[in-house]
Parts: sequence; C-alpha cells; structure tokens
Amino acid sequence: MQKYEKLEKIGEGTYGTVFKAKNKENHEIVALKRVRLDDDDEGVPSSALREICLLKELKHKNIVRLTDVLHSERKLTLVFEYCDQDLKKYFDSCNGEIEAEVVKSFLYQLLRGLAFCHSHNVLHRDLKPQNLLINKNGELKLADFGLARAFGIPVRCYSAEVVTLWYRPPDVLFGAKLYSTSIDMWSAGCIFAELANAGRPLFPGNDVNDQLKRIFKSLGTPTEDTWPGVAQLPDYKQFPIYQPTMSFSQVVPKLSAKGRDLLQRLLVCNPAHRMSAEDGMAHPYFYDLNPALRT
Ligand code: ADP
Ligand code: MG
Repeated sequence: MQKYEKLEKIGEGTYGTVFKAKNKENHEIVALKRVRLDDDDEGVPSSALREICLLKELKHKNIVRLTDVLHSERKLTLVFEYCDQDLKKYFDSCNGEIEAEVVKSFLYQLLRGLAFCHSHNVLHRDLKPQNLLINKNGELKLADFGLARAFGIPVRCYSAEVVTLWYRPPDVLFGAKLYSTSIDMWSAGCIFAELANAGRPLFPGNDVNDQLKRIFKSLGTPTEDTWPGVAQLPDYKQFPIYQPTMSFSQVVPKLSAKGRDLLQRLLVCNPAHRMSAEDGMAHPYFYDLNPALRT
C-alpha cells in the first residue's frame, strides 16, 4: 500500500470505496478500490481472490484495466486505471443533450467491451451508468466487471443504499438463477435508451413488482407462447396481460429508425431471443459509425 498515495475519494459503490491515488514509483494516477467484505472476520474468500486474479488477464480497451490486486490482513484493494468520470455524472453534466454521434459511439464501445468479456465467459450482471467510465477523449470503459461472480450479485450496497433494479431483465426479476450473457444485453438496451434520451432512465422502477409492471406495460406481458418456461421461474408471478404500448418512436424520439430497430432487439423479455453483443455490433445502425472507432 505504501506504493500508492491516496488523493481524494471519488466514489462509493456497491462493493466499496474508490479513491484517486498516485503511484509513488511512476507517478501514474490510478483508482484504488477498497472492497468491503460482508463477513470481515472470515477474511477474503479464496474463491473471490481466484476470480479477481482472473480479471487481471481481461485486457481490452473498453474494459477498465485492473492492474494490481493488493491483499493484506483481510483487506482487499483493487488497483484500476483512472478514468475521468462515469456515465451517470456525464448525464448530469450534459444538459439534456447528447449528440447522435456520441450516442452511437458510446453504445458501440459498450457492445464491444461486452462482446470481448462474453467471449471469455465473463458476465457483468450489474451494468448501469455508474459502472461505465468515460474519458475526455470519448472512450468508454466497463467497470466493476466480473465482481458479481467473485462476490455474488449485488442485492444491497455496503453503504445501505438500495441497488437499482432499473437495468435488470425480467428473467432475473423473476428469480432466474442461470444467468447467461443475455442479462447484460438487457442492461445494454436500457442504457442505450437512456443515452438516446440524454440521461432519462427508461424503466425507473421502485421495487421488483413495479419494475416488472413498467416493463410489461411497455413491451407487453410475456406468455408461455412468447416465452416458453416463464411461468416456471422461481419468483414468477402473474401480471395482467398488457398489450405492448411502447411505441419506440415516442420513447426514443431522437433515435434513428435503425437505432430503434437495434433497441427493440435488445429489449426482448425472453432472454433466448435477446440480441448478442457480437450481433449488435454488426447491426445496420453502425454502418455509418465513425471509422476511427472501429480500430
Ligand atoms: P462499486 O463496485 O463499489 O460499485 P465502482 O467500481 O462502480 O464501485 O466505483 C464506484 C464509483 O467510483 C464509480 O461509479 C465511479 O464514479 C468511480 N470510479 C470507479 N472506478 C473508477 C476509475 N477507475 N476511474 C475513475 N472513477 C472511478
Ligand atoms: Mg459500481
């Protein structure tokens, strides 16, 4: 720990406190994350350590780099590359206006980071604007990757703040335990809509029931026909049969027709029919993407 000089606190999230810090050897600015463990007496579970160390190998320009893992006396500190801000703060500062080209660029980078992780069998499981970091040069990076597998899917923040359900897919809200990559694709869809609306969340539910109701009122209530097996999910509960009312041209009025088509393929209640990150990147919405971004 003597290697790093703590500067200021930059965030408090689901797993712990994040500080801006300086590497005293090379003067590099980093982000230090002190992970709080539920059961402090037990120390750091070896399973968590194994998972975390695997993440050090997950190297991609759209994933926040984990450069070091410091483990001492029941404390766990993760050292990450430093980014300028998160997408939530970016929304707060954009005054209700995000250029169409920026929306496209951010979504593309989000999908590219996801495609990379999914191809390495790593899921995020808690994607939300606070976990997407942005640099001044317009780079977007996924943060908090893989931590859900090491520490369990977040149900509450250690700071007693309630974990947001806004980006959770209906299968997870119904208690599905066999998560697949589709969990992240739903969240990506919600974030896409929020980007297109300059920071207005798509489904800001208050609790699990309200969250599902908002989703079904917009997209229609799934049935055994549209989603075989839905009624067998552990926390399945019958909802009124809403007909889809969400007209994507009204929900995301600033998004092009191709963008709306892509959004519609991400926001599919049946996880088996949700578009993958890889396929999303090949969608016609990105045909006119700034070529510099493809490299
Ligand atoms: P948690 O797992 O506790 O949610 P996060 O990694 O999401 O922790 O960090 C909490 C907040 O700290 C983020 O929302 C972001 O604002 C800030 N933050 C996290 N990592 C970095 C980083 N590498 N660079 C800059 N800010 C960061
Ligand atoms: Mg976080």
